[in-house]
Amino acid sequence: MSNPLNPLIELLKLVKLLVFDFDGTVTKNWEEALPFKVAYVHGLAVALDKSVRDTWELIAKTEQTVLKGDPAQYGWIFQGTLVSPATGDPYVLMLTVSRLIWMEVKGNLDTFEEFHAKAWWECYPKADTVFQPGVEELFRALKGKPFATEIVTNSGTGSVRDKLNRLGREFDWLTARIHGGAKKNEFYHYPRIDETSGELDKLPLRIDLPGFGRRVEVRRRQYFSVLNIQRWMVGADWSEICVVGDNLELDGLIVLLLGGSFILMMNEHTPQHEIEYVRAHPRGHIVSSLVEIQEALVEAA
Ligand SMILES: [Mg+2]
Repeated sequence: MSNPLNPLIELLKLVKLLVFDFDGTVTKNWEEALPFKVAYVHGLAVALDKSVRDTWELIAKTEQTVLKGDPAQYGWIFQGTLVSPATGDPYVLMLTVSRLIWMEVKGNLDTFEEFHAKAWWECYPKADTVFQPGVEELFRALKGKPFATEIVTNSGTGSVRDKLNRLGREFDWLTARIHGGAKKNEFYHYPRIDETSGELDKLPLRIDLPGFGRRVEVRRRQYFSVLNIQRWMVGADWSEICVVGDNLELDGLIVLLLGGSFILMMNEHTPQHEIEYVRAHPRGHIVSSLVEIQEALVEAA
């Protein structure tokens, strides 16, 4: 049924560039990470000289500490600064939790990094590929649209391409549109003398967002550059750009601040304050399934 009040339909009518984050947006990364988690917890048990059962109990208990604790304390730390909540990504949550457990059991973190680096390389390849429901229908609906569709991800282009290839040759057009290594976590405070970053330099260094409990870094320069290049390619203003992502801070914040739109793909781990911020924002949209975007695309045609 057509819903003339659905702002998503109006957005998809005006957009010139639609950018998808990949992990957690196109895929269900919390499900993908389960085999990784099983292998990692096993390795942690061996390293801490504990039984696997006891280690799972510690994991469950410590996850609750992190999930119910102060969000300003836990997450992805880059150059000593928190740049994404622990709930933003299953691998960040695993790292956060295992670091706390290591500290609790051993009393220091002296050998933790060594353990983690080794466990990461052994366990990460075990992660699964689980697409969001409706992904094929969505990509089919996007093909041939009068706007550009791109994928911008922190992951490497190779791993994303390998996953997309599982969907078949029908989506080869999209595998040519993957932009990897976006470094959405990396922020910079110094202005740089080049005309490509002028708009970013006008934004504040950090802003207060309700519920985050900390100042949030704004100037994610590498991510900005990738988006900006795509913007030039299609001749779009920021107001004609929409990003779809599962992490407000990493995917959506600079887009909203620069005048673009953001569709938050929420999951069971999305913090309530992120949902509320996006919902209250005039250019923010919330979906819990790619099907909602696909249906809006059909209505917008
Ligand atoms: Mg993501």
